Amino acid sequence: MTPERYAKIMRVLAQRQPTLSVLMDEVNKPHNFSAVLRTCDAVGVLRAHAVPPKSGSLPTYEATSGSAHKWVEVQTHKEIVGAVRQLQAAGFQVLATHLSEQSMDYRQPDYTRPTAVLLGAEKWGVSDEAARAADHNIVIPMLGMVQSLNVSVAAATILFEAQRQRLTAGMYAQPQLEAAELARLAFEWSYPELAPLYRERGERYPAMDAAGQIVRGDEL
Ligand code: SAM
Repeated sequence: MTPERYAKIMRVLAQRQPTLSVLMDEVNKPHNFSAVLRTCDAVGVLRAHAVPPKSGSLPTYEATSGSAHKWVEVQTHKEIVGAVRQLQAAGFQVLATHLSEQSMDYRQPDYTRPTAVLLGAEKWGVSDEAARAADHNIVIPMLGMVQSLNVSVAAATILFEAQRQRLTAGMYAQPQLEAAELARLAFEWSYPELAPLYRERGERYPAMDAAGQIVRGDEL
């Protein structure tokens, strides 16, 4: 761990946005799933949510993600409406991307509020049931011949609007993470090979000094 690497980790964590997320509903192509995670990392999403495709596990694909899956935790859910309700209970407005004339322009919502963007599967999109459960439906206006964008392109378009609004509101200028979570993540990102050993042994992570070096005998 070099001091420069540690400084970068701390800079990134200081800008993470625990109140901005995506909820992917059975996005099944690995390159799309990973491209969404890569955008999440770029805009500062702390944790993404996903209902895995019926066929099995999460479709991560490292070649595209630039290792984004290492920096954006993915919380899985069994089914989509339950996931929407859970996020709403945690205080998030859920904005379902829905290709409908009734949906509002994606630039209209206030993304400085705790927000999760619901993204649909490549083939089916967001189900009517999930769209109804969401707080609002949003759409990126399509003025060409094709009906829809690639899901990762849609995710990027919307998340960078959220980033723009949050930058304007100063939400990247001060840490949004609680101090304890920031310290936990700082250790896990700095020492990814050591962190699981501490967890397996049921031990607390050690403290680190300002250069990211482990302080023996001191715990977080
Ligand atoms: N036939 C599907 C439908 O009618 O929804 C198309 C799905 S599209 C290829 C996959 C996902 O990309 C959508 O569920 C949505 O999350 C996102 N998406 C694509 N185009 C979009 C747009 N114009 N506005 C908002 N989201 C869009």
